[in-house]
Amino acid sequence: MTSRDLIEVALNLPLSQTFTYRIPTALKNAIAIGMRVLVPFGRKTLTGFAVGFPPEAPCAEIKDVLDLPDEEPLFSEQDLTFYQWVASYYFCPLGQTIAAALPQGISATFRQFVSLTEKGRACLLHGEATGEQLRILQALERDSGLSINGLRRRIGTRTLPHHLPSLVRNGLLQITSTRIRKGTQIKKEKWFAALPTAPVQTLKGKQLELYQFLKEQEAAPLSRILAQFKNGARLLKVLQKKNLITVTEKEVLRRPALEDEIFPEPLHTVTAEQKNILKRLQQAIEARAFFPFLLHGVTGSGKTEIYLQVMAELVKRGRQCLLLVPEIALTAQLWDRVCSRIDAPVSLLHSSLTSAERFDAWRMIRRGDIKIVIGARSAIFASCADLGAIIVDEEHDPSYKQDVHPRYNARDLALIRGTMANALVILGSATPSLESYHNAAKKKYSIGVLPERIADRPLPQIKVIDLRITPSNPHSRQAGIISAPLREAISRRLQNGEQSLLFLNRRGFAPVFLCRQCGYTFRCPNCEVSLIHHQQEKKLRCHYCDFLLPLPERCPDCNSFFLSSLGWGTERLEREVSALFPSARVGRMDRDSTATKGASRKLLKSIAQGELDILVGTQMIAKGHHLPQVTLVGVICADHSLNFPDYRAGERTFQLLTQVAGRAGRGDKPGEVFIQTYNPEHYSIRCAQQHDYRAFFAAEMRQRRELDYPPHTRMINFRLEGANKERLLQYAQDLGETSKKFLAQLKLTGTVNILGPAPAPWGKIKGKYRYQMLLKSEKLHSVRLLASRILQHAHESTGRSGISLSVDVDPVFIL
Ligand SMILES: [Zn+2]
Ligand SMILES: [Zn+2]
Repeated sequence: MTSRDLIEVALNLPLSQTFTYRIPTALKNAIAIGMRVLVPFGRKTLTGFAVGFPPEAPCAEIKDVLDLPDEEPLFSEQDLTFYQWVASYYFCPLGQTIAAALPQGISATFRQFVSLTEKGRACLLHGEATGEQLRILQALERDSGLSINGLRRRIGTRTLPHHLPSLVRNGLLQITSTRIRKGTQIKKEKWFAALPTAPVQTLKGKQLELYQFLKEQEAAPLSRILAQFKNGARLLKVLQKKNLITVTEKEVLRRPALEDEIFPEPLHTVTAEQKNILKRLQQAIEARAFFPFLLHGVTGSGKTEIYLQVMAELVKRGRQCLLLVPEIALTAQLWDRVCSRIDAPVSLLHSSLTSAERFDAWRMIRRGDIKIVIGARSAIFASCADLGAIIVDEEHDPSYKQDVHPRYNARDLALIRGTMANALVILGSATPSLESYHNAAKKKYSIGVLPERIADRPLPQIKVIDLRITPSNPHSRQAGIISAPLREAISRRLQNGEQSLLFLNRRGFAPVFLCRQCGYTFRCPNCEVSLIHHQQEKKLRCHYCDFLLPLPERCPDCNSFFLSSLGWGTERLEREVSALFPSARVGRMDRDSTATKGASRKLLKSIAQGELDILVGTQMIAKGHHLPQVTLVGVICADHSLNFPDYRAGERTFQLLTQVAGRAGRGDKPGEVFIQTYNPEHYSIRCAQQHDYRAFFAAEMRQRRELDYPPHTRMINFRLEGANKERLLQYAQDLGETSKKFLAQLKLTGTVNILGPAPAPWGKIKGKYRYQMLLKSEKLHSVRLLASRILQHAHESTGRSGISLSVDVDPVFIL
């Protein structure tokens, strides 16, 4: 066989190998690496990805490729190299990695349907079947063409997987694979053009009108003709019959409807520091070499201006740029700022587009028609042929870490991709992650600092309020959550017509709902957490598995009616604020209030246009928004993040406080910040108060050194989950033993540390008990070596145990 007879296909399955298929003659000239392919797999039809042309078949029996949904590859061979790197680094099969990289929801879906054969009917007729088999055949006689799950529901048996294969083997049943969702495809439209030399004497009336319209337009799409001419379709037919017009098919690109710009970006005078940084970046762009750059600029120091000028520079050279932001809500605001300043095709790439819009945006980027891509973490995979720069805004943000397989960190991938593409990589933040700052300190990255806000605006003054000694307000109807000084500050803002942000990182009304009589606390039956009281919807809700309970009226334990909620969430804070300041216009921004499309943009718009006085919110309000009329920020309780059971709690707290405080005083008036806390002496809070990143970095690095945590070490976390507690414990113990054995075998004792297996801080989520085992080492190579040996063993042993094992390289949170 020649090499073009076979294609290597990566499938979106938890299998580490790829598969070889034969290319039918009809598809031979059409197929290329980077295309989707439809292939048979067992009894199923799956969408896979073409990743290579193997020289020879690995076995004798090779199946044919069924179809090619694409006319052009969705990714290049260079992209493939990057995806392969990701797959290998994060221990994720290539097919699953590519599926995560490409726009979601574009694959066709097939389902298996079961039906009776002639032989099966005869068998029923002659009464030859018995027991379970008879019931299966009877169910299919009543409803032919059931899906396998449908059949299982119909006959309610667990033994179906046992009977099905033998019934198929004996020819009584057949299973067919049918496409139930087409998958996203290229959309085309007919375009009509007038032939200039046509004899038009024969035309009159509407026919002539349409002909002349086409001549003026040069060419017009069917949709426009139909909108303009009542009998458009019929008229076109006549003109076509008379050979007066031509028809061609053109691709239609589906793009999200643009909204009115609400955050345009004026041209700023560039400060001396910005100028200096821009000069260095300009050189890097000219050098066309990998250049990692940490842009450490305090909040409001004009980092966006640097991004905009870098993009403009690249656009001038016809090159492409990726701009990553931690949250979709931020893309809208950046979109406005980019489009108002840069005259080049810009595209969004994130999950709130429809799958057709994402598919088209992806292909336009790939063809180079789009120069600037703005997106959340998955945009790091966008197929750019001429990538000049990757900008990662708010690079410290944990949202860059994907929490399902492959558990990649888009910030880290930006550097890998930058190396492969010889591109400039800018990591921007007011509070750089410890890893990035450490890398800059070791001179692995260049660094540029913007220590002051633009236009000589001062950083906000931060006051820490010690909740241990400051009584909230002894006169209020109940123990409130807003201390007297913060309350006064809000009043002053209301009098002056300025805006306030109140930050509480917990949504819902209250985090606990309990019985005052006996102390019974309502907990989620699937997770080891208490249920969150949501008062507006009158429900108790689990934030991990979405378990819902209508608000109970009495205690299930003692039958008392004396139930109430404990603690504070944003919903309750909003109510409290409205009660304290009845004349104020209060809004709330959290995951509940922004669940519908466009809701967060609407909220930001109303605060930008002065339609709100006070905005209450979770960390959604802390991130990157530029709201010039906000002069007061109140942090209701800094202790929530400080008490998080994770080694990054201190870093996270410092980042959140600095970021949220940074929302204050970005306009003409100076800002003021109040942080309420029970831990005023903690270095995270002290350093945030003093705007002292370097002091924080030094203190946190000391802590990490003592406990051997990153960036001093590299970590890989294994998570074990299972519904059966005893079996999970047993498996965890075995895995621990085996891992220690491997450690000795690989001569890594003393180089790699194994912690656990131990119950995870969140011991049960969604009905699954959870254990984890953490590998730590100063040597990345060593920790990876041990991890891959453990994984290899685990793949051989987890099979039927009902236990799932997942691996997280460079975990951000270990919960
Ligand atoms: Zn009770
Ligand atoms: Zn739950």
